[in-house]
Amino acid sequence: AKGAGRNRFSYFTPALQVAALNRMRLTNDLRSAIKGEQLKLYFQPIVHLGTGAIHKAEALLRWEHPQRGLVSPLEFIPLAESSGLIVDIGQWVFDESLRWVRRWRQDIHPEFQVSLNQSPVEFQREGGTYDVWLRALRQLGVPGQAIVVEITEGLLLDASAMVTDKLLQLRDAGIQVALDDFGTGYSSLSYLNKFDIDYLKIDRSFTRNLAPDSSDMALSEAIIVMAHKLGLSVIAEGVETAEQRDLLAAAGCDYGQGYLFARPMPVEAFDALLQSHVAP
Ligand code: C2E
Ligand code: CA
Ligand code: CA
Ligand code: CA
Repeated sequence: AKGAGRNRFSYFTPALQVAALNRMRLTNDLRSAIKGEQLKLYFQPIVHLGTGAIHKAEALLRWEHPQRGLVSPLEFIPLAESSGLIVDIGQWVFDESLRWVRRWRQDIHPEFQVSLNQSPVEFQREGGTYDVWLRALRQLGVPGQAIVVEITEGLLLDASAMVTDKLLQLRDAGIQVALDDFGTGYSSLSYLNKFDIDYLKIDRSFTRNLAPDSSDMALSEAIIVMAHKLGLSVIAEGVETAEQRDLLAAAGCDYGQGYLFARPMPVEAFDALLQSHVAP
């Protein structure tokens, strides 16, 4: 390494040390964030493109750090995974979501659903089962259908016995499964048939490039037709313009999610939106 003559430990560059220290600090902060109620659940509506109805939402985690402000889940979920804190965080997300979806099924629509993200590490966690979830569902009298778990393609690609078993656990509980970020990974359509998946979420990198007669348009149309033939509903992510919405609707896409409709918002704001939204 450069400068190795001067300093035998030069591969431990100050920049790396700072980054490592930073991660350690942030992980410690995360530990207290869970207790200190700095974690907030935001919700983003999933809109039915045919009717405009909002009967679904995705729960998205936010961390309001007292000094740093909002920390992105892209930054702290990996820390939560490596420290094991993801278990408590995931359980908290589930409990909060369950409380709200129960209310929305009473007030808004009897089939209201909330989608939760499960990272691969979280999903494949050794010994983890969904027993705690099942008990909570039963206790609150909410059917499993109220919950959708969003997983990513990679998980199915090297599907171990554990992954298959967990998917069956969800299925037995009536919990539905969505395939997140579809189109970014290996995108083999064969596992759509092999596993019982309910929703396919087209990644926003596709939505972004939608234009009439574009290749992404043709691809999206093909994905939608295929998904429907296999009995899946399709949700397009990252819908930002009316044109994208219209193209997706014309291609038969079932649902849209994105800034055009609403950004993710604190649960209280989302609840107010739902209560004032005129049911079509
Ligand atoms: P994701 O599951 O793909 O979530 C969608 C991301 O797209 C969200 O980012 C959302 O805010 C953003 N988004 C929504 N509409 C638009 C749009 O129209 N344009 C653009 N440019 N972006 C849009 P966010 O909230 O920062 O979350 C990032 C990722 O963090 C999520 O990606 C998900 O993988 C992960 N994540 C969030 N909450 C949780 C959680 O509770 N547990 C786990 N394990 N992961 C989570
Ligand atoms: Ca997601
Ligand atoms: Ca996604
Ligand atoms: Ca199915």
